[in-house]
Amino acid sequence: NNTQVSVLGLGEMGRALAAALLAAGQPTTVWNRTAAKGDELVARGASRADSVEAAVTAGPVVIVCLLDHGSVLETLEPVAGQLAGRTVVNLTTGTPAQAEELSAWVTGHGADFLAGGIMAIPTTVATPDAFFLYSGQQRVFDAHRDVLEVLGEARYLGADTGLASLYDLALLSGMNLMFEGFHHAVAMATSRTEGTAADFTGLLVRWLVNMARVLPAFAAEVDAERESGAEPRLVQTLDLQIAAMANIVDASRAAGVDPAHLELSLAGLRDLLGQGHVVAGAPTAVRRLRLAGPMA
Ligand code: NDP
Repeated sequence: NNTQVSVLGLGEMGRALAAALLAAGQPTTVWNRTAAKGDELVARGASRADSVEAAVTAGPVVIVCLLDHGSVLETLEPVAGQLAGRTVVNLTTGTPAQAEELSAWVTGHGADFLAGGIMAIPTTVATPDAFFLYSGQQRVFDAHRDVLEVLGEARYLGADTGLASLYDLALLSGMNLMFEGFHHAVAMATSRTEGTAADFTGLLVRWLVNMARVLPAFAAEVDAERESGAEPRLVQTLDLQIAAMANIVDASRAAGVDPAHLELSLAGLRDLLGQGHVVAGAPTAVRRLRLAGPMA
């Protein structure tokens, strides 16, 4: 595929994306506000664009990977008149609302738009560990799939433009809560002089990997309940969950570790008991988190 691809943004991630395109033999034009960050890529065969306009007009596909939504608007607004007929693929992390706003703006200037989410770090781009989420018009995804696959597995989620951002941020929410859990667990486990974080973490990883394997069964219950109101089967009684959580909170406090996160979970479980629930599996827990109003 010899489609000319322009990459706007040569931070840690933008440089990895451009390097992957070059390594795959894709004709690549690069632009960055601080031009020197492109030097190594130019030495490897990239064309340097001295302006955003030169980058955007270099070819039909423009991949954008900047700091945030504000920097994307700031960068693209001056070249709005040059966008018509091109495809803008935005890989800058942002909210669904920002993706929808950018999509309306880009398509309003006669260009195609694809929203993306990068599930990779710079060192895993273009390796089997990387996957990229895309949403927007299927026609646009299909037309550029070959180029996008160079960066890592390209997963098309659907026509709802905000979906890639929603999934991206939902995946990051799961990751961040896991990291919080790791911090909490290590703080507890290292509160006595015996034992190292490293030794403990070997056990934690083993435990979390085992527990992660249960998640698809929980997800099936959430779906079954959404579809038919079916009663979940993989549940513990609320009494048992509350007793277990109270133990963790007490032991955490006794170990001198702030139990605030877990106290919130405990309060949530007690709320459900107060509402008359006897068991509370994943469907109930997911429903409890939903705020009334914003979504169905
Ligand atoms: P960096 O901080 O390394 O780079 C930020 C980039 O944005 C630089 O190219 C910077 O230009 C540019 N920039 C910032 N503000 C402006 C502006 N006002 N106008 C023009 N350009 C601007 O970030 P990353 O490359 O790591 O991240 C880029 C995007 O990729 C982010 O949205 C991030 O969330 C996402 N991402 C990053 C991952 C990672 O592991 N790094 C993982 C998954 C997603 P300059 O060099 O001139 O400062």
